[in-house]
Amino acid sequence: MGLVQREIERAGIPTIGVSIVRSYSEQVRPPRTVFLRWPYGHPFGEPFKAAQQRTVLRAALKALVEIAEPGTIVDLPYRWRRETYEESSQLTRRSFLAFGVATVAAPLAFPAPSLAARPATRTLGRTQLAVSELGMGVMITPNPEVVRAALDAGVTYFDTARNYMGGRNEAILAEGLGARRKEVVVATKCENYGSVAAIIASCEQSLAALKTDWIDVYQLHGVSSRAQVLAPQCLEALATLRKAGKIRCAGVTTHSAMIEVIAAAIEAGVYDTVLTTFNFREPPGLGEAVRRAAAAGLGVIAMKIMAGGYQDAAVPALNPFQGALRWVLRQPGVATTIPSLVSFEQLKQNLDAAAVSFGARDALALELYAAAIESRHCRVCGGCRGQCARGADVPAIMRALMYHEGYGQSRLARETLAAADFPCGSCERCTVTCRSGVRIVERVAAALRLRGPASA
Ligand code: SF4
Ligand code: SF4
Repeated sequence: MGLVQREIERAGIPTIGVSIVRSYSEQVRPPRTVFLRWPYGHPFGEPFKAAQQRTVLRAALKALVEIAEPGTIVDLPYRWRRETYEESSQLTRRSFLAFGVATVAAPLAFPAPSLAARPATRTLGRTQLAVSELGMGVMITPNPEVVRAALDAGVTYFDTARNYMGGRNEAILAEGLGARRKEVVVATKCENYGSVAAIIASCEQSLAALKTDWIDVYQLHGVSSRAQVLAPQCLEALATLRKAGKIRCAGVTTHSAMIEVIAAAIEAGVYDTVLTTFNFREPPGLGEAVRRAAAAGLGVIAMKIMAGGYQDAAVPALNPFQGALRWVLRQPGVATTIPSLVSFEQLKQNLDAAAVSFGARDALALELYAAAIESRHCRVCGGCRGQCARGADVPAIMRALMYHEGYGQSRLARETLAAADFPCGSCERCTVTCRSGVRIVERVAAALRLRGPASA
């Protein structure tokens, strides 16, 4: 084992061994080893026990990243046939998280990303607009200088909405763009699309706040059903605005029922773009829906690409957020992305990330990050739809928590909760279960704490 590992490492590939005989490993001293006190012939666990085997694999990958001293052997805490393994979550989160090795002093020598280049340009579907593949989500950006820096760095797609930051975000974007408005594609959104008049009024407000005569991509915000996509007042208002030259293109945005909304947007034939939640934890069928949308001529914009951006879940030696951006950029059909860029540092991180292709390091980072967040991150798979007899919008509640815990945006989180169907608080026992591993009972309790007693 040690000899083979050393040969592989000579070719520049880091290795980790899984040992079940500690004394041999101590003698052979492979570069890195994890040890399990398990029977001969079963270093990864029992046959057909996929969750158990995945647990060992993840622990080994974590050690691969964290071991800094050659010859280190890490004792894994798992006991043969005495642990409970869950199919959708790794063994004993307790064991996984408790499993610890020293913080990395010298991380493995994976290839370092090159310095940031200007982001590549892609075409936004049938709009034929040229956009940088790295766009900017301005949603919570407080400083117009960050917008200006993104512009200088070659970012040409900027996304905002009428209601972001209590209505101030469009003005921040306008200030950042200044006289260079014409150089970029500006996308904004309308939250109130209950009537033609409401949509047109919201658009006028956006035009004024953005200090512009036209909006490049005007979107209906947070659409969650086919009926909303095809609502006559929406189609009429968008056609009127387009005819008046106030908007160049129309789109929908969705972070719930994404597949249904995307299919309806294709069916409608009047939308040019779709902005959808899309990340490496994609629910089944979403990637295919994205490809279909692109094939039908829609410009697909990906959001929530960091799957929550939970800093506390990232292994220090890796950067899953850069890997997450690279993952989405290589998905067929994606025209651009809008990671939230709040600071100069985040801008640089994303420019660096976009300059490098997805690789093995990213796969490892995302695997570990996914394992660490699966009890709290909702993939919006739709599996819990209709489970709550009181009609709670569970994915929206989970999204609110994500804003709070991942983005650090408590106000946005509370606003999201206030807008969601959130009738929890008086149930004796929550009956909703998640097939993707989210611990709904704990999460609902966290959401109730976030909402606070005043409005409960
Ligand atoms: S809470 Fe779970 S089941 Fe419900 S949509 Fe999210 S991931 Fe799917
Ligand atoms: S606690 Fe559970 S069952 Fe009760 S309203 Fe909330 S989601 Fe529904």
